[in-house]
Amino acid sequence: MIQENILEIQGKIEKACKKSDRLTSEVRLIAVTKTQPTEAMAPLIALGIKAVGENKVQEIRDKYPVFQDAFHWHLIGHLQTNKIKYIIDKVSMIHSVDSYHLAEKINQEALKHQLVMPILIQVNIAEEDSKFGIAREACESVIREIASLPNVHIQGLMTIAPFVENPEENRWVFRTLKEIFIDIKNKTIDNVDMYELSMGMTNDFEVAIEEGATLVRIGTAIFGQRNYT
Ligand SMILES: *Cc1c(COP(=O)(O)O)cnc(C)c1O
Repeated sequence: MIQENILEIQGKIEKACKKSDRLTSEVRLIAVTKTQPTEAMAPLIALGIKAVGENKVQEIRDKYPVFQDAFHWHLIGHLQTNKIKYIIDKVSMIHSVDSYHLAEKINQEALKHQLVMPILIQVNIAEEDSKFGIAREACESVIREIASLPNVHIQGLMTIAPFVENPEENRWVFRTLKEIFIDIKNKTIDNVDMYELSMGMTNDFEVAIEEGATLVRIGTAIFGQRNYT
């Protein structure tokens, strides 16, 4: 049951916060609803879950009309520039910005709608595992470039950690992202804020919270194994 799963996750979030001397209010749960039908998503509303994460533009286009602003839609997957126009007025944050080029195109579409899009910069910390994300070394220079765009607002960093058996194996990934976060924060770049750290999934969110996550993206622990057929 979704309700029991969410209660269990919330309990684990609280525990991880206690353990690391953080306030539970500093961590937000994003329910990752990719592949889930709208019927599976509907109960989230009554359970007080506002934020949902999707990794495909098409799924947001399909589901948005059903719920509209009852959810805050987070785009957490790779975004192609030709599809920005379909989601620019629907999503409340894009977690997966990994180039100046993409940010520039988001900026253009945001300008058309006279809005400022909150974005996170995706950093590829564990380089062997994901082909998306900016390399750690390039982070600051790309962020400085993107900062010049008035209709996007950098609010933090995101990473996807590798799949590991033991979540402790990902602790260094989360710690490294937090280090970059602090580093950039200390540089106080105009139009760049560092308050969101989007890291941690079903398998490793407690470790991510202990290392400073503010947004955890959780699918399987809420809905069970995804059915991709
Ligand atoms: C699917 C996905 C998640 C959720 O993964 P679970 O292991 O099911 O919790 C989180 N983040 C991103 C970017 C994803 O694509």
